[in-house]
Amino acid sequence: MNNAEDAKRLAAVLDWYALAGVETILAGQPVDRFEISKQPPAPARYRRTPGPSGKTQPTFNRTGAPARSPLAKQSSRQAPADHNLAPANTAEAVIQAQKLSAEARTPEALRTALAGFEGCSLKKMAKNLCFADGNPQSRLMLIGEAPGRDEDLAGVPFVGRAGQLLDKMLAAIDLSRKEDLWITNTVFWRPPGNRNPTLAESEICRPFLERQIELIKPKIIVALGGAAAKNLLHTQSGIMRLRGKWHEIEIGGHKAQLMPTLHPAYLLRTPAAKKLAWQDLLMIREKLDEQS
Ligand code: URA
Repeated sequence: MNNAEDAKRLAAVLDWYALAGVETILAGQPVDRFEISKQPPAPARYRRTPGPSGKTQPTFNRTGAPARSPLAKQSSRQAPADHNLAPANTAEAVIQAQKLSAEARTPEALRTALAGFEGCSLKKMAKNLCFADGNPQSRLMLIGEAPGRDEDLAGVPFVGRAGQLLDKMLAAIDLSRKEDLWITNTVFWRPPGNRNPTLAESEICRPFLERQIELIKPKIIVALGGAAAKNLLHTQSGIMRLRGKWHEIEIGGHKAQLMPTLHPAYLLRTPAAKKLAWQDLLMIREKLDEQS
């Protein structure tokens, strides 16, 4: 076989992977699963074994995937534990994020600072920084959870199907993204496979989010979905408890009224919940009108 043929085959395999939805590299080295399958089966029981460093490491099962505790009920969206980031590294990254964000005097300067920030591991796997979109002069700020695939490709928040639904919902209360609002997320790079951001990733990005709030000075903040609402309100309460009510928040001396509402991606999956989102939108419109 010659190199051109190899390249053609490789391209065909990659095309097939993309079609099958395999779009995220999870390890630095490929795993030869044919070789692994020749090895005798590992005991089915979950156990942790000491690794070379003496620390415990998860046992790998026959397929090369880490064995799971039968007790660990994890959905594929759930954030992994922050194994890869020691607490000291997280703390250092947070301190650096605080320093860089505090130095930024405009949203544009904050974007530049974030683009040069290397402390968040999400950046390594993302295609683009996804900072924010909209009008920095507006008094309304919308905050989602994390960029998805379309946002990662475009480098702009909420441009996929959920974002398009959101734009239509906003248009129904006479708001346009270009003129009337600023939109961002709690983290600024796509978590691989659209999993939830880990606590460490959210905390590392928090200073950049809070600085955005200080610079934009919104009167009204809308938290899109439970993750954003919990993050901003520092609560464990679910979105169904939080939504439909105004919550006062204060960040860096700036006070705002926060309305948690349902995430547009949830509304795409659960159209019956749109009536609840509509009630929240009407409350947001009313508050904007009261303040103008
Ligand atoms: N979902 C989010 O929370 N944010 C985006 O930018 C897109 C989808």
